[in-house]
Amino acid sequence: MYQFKLHNVNDVASAIDVFERSDDAVYIAGGHTLIPAMKQRLSAPEDLIDLSGIPELDLIQVDGEVLQIGAMATHAMVAASSHVQSHSPAVADLAGGIGDRQVRYKGTLGGSLANNDPAADYPAAVLALGASVVTDRRTLAADDFFIAMFETALEEGEIIQAVRFPQVDQAVYLKFPNPASRYAMVGVMLARRDQEVRVAITGAAASVFRASTFEAALSENFAVSSIEDLTLAPDTLNADMHASAEYRAHLCKVLIERAIRAMSAG
Ligand SMILES: Cc1cc2nc3c(=O)[nH]c(=O)nc-3n(C[C@H](O)[C@H](O)[C@H](O)COP(=O)(O)OP(=O)(O)OC[C@H]3O[C@@H](n4cnc5c(N)ncnc54)[C@H](O)[C@@H]3O)c2cc1C
Repeated sequence: MYQFKLHNVNDVASAIDVFERSDDAVYIAGGHTLIPAMKQRLSAPEDLIDLSGIPELDLIQVDGEVLQIGAMATHAMVAASSHVQSHSPAVADLAGGIGDRQVRYKGTLGGSLANNDPAADYPAAVLALGASVVTDRRTLAADDFFIAMFETALEEGEIIQAVRFPQVDQAVYLKFPNPASRYAMVGVMLARRDQEVRVAITGAAASVFRASTFEAALSENFAVSSIEDLTLAPDTLNADMHASAEYRAHLCKVLIERAIRAMSAG
């Protein structure tokens, strides 16, 4: 590690103020991505602004039909929250399946979304559920938030404050985890509201994406038979030491089929 200055702040305005006065500042949440990146010198900020002292950022509450989860809520807090379990049980399940216990006790919703790792779980939920990302300056629809691998619509210094999840009729998240890291080799979230079905896939490509042909077929007829002839083109998918693109395409379809069956049974 090299020298840096750690700033403890207790409100969002102070965090932004420190950011604006620094030439090279970064916010830190649980540090689960940032600290390893700093150790490897992939990131070398002069100023670290710790968001963990801002009390309102880890609140989880239900406001009418909307579930609001603060950006600093850890995965363990989300998994254990009775608000999340009753409003969006698929989000609680997803959070409980992230990494291992240590990762879940430090990693945060905001850090996961800001990082937009191609294999992260939360982006699939945010996209499939049509959630909104609330920042210090605006509210971004999920469809506009994820831009590319490790890239989001967040501007310089912008802080995610919370994510707002609307109520859906049914949702399921299934992932095929990498046995070592527990990151998704492929993760699929299906969500259904009235006749509309949304299918978001993580782990399979450079960034989370919606499988629009599957969505159209399932919105017409929510049954495994309606996607029988559909496939994902492997040439748009990741290939690495863990799985070929063809294998990932196959996994996506298998997980979508399993999610349909689980939702039809439940
Ligand atoms: C061993 C291991 C296994 C893991 N397995 C999984 C897994 O199975 N599934 C999964 O989804 N993830 C997994 N993760 C990722 C982990 O769960 C964290 O979500 C992720 O590392 C981000 O960490 P963090 O929340 O501590 O953010 P940090 O590391 O503190 O920050 C990450 C980035 O986000 C920015 N940032 C943080 N908070 C905000 C905010 N509120 N507003 C704006 N920018 C912000 C920071 O400036 C930084 O650039 C794993 C991580 C590890 C180390």
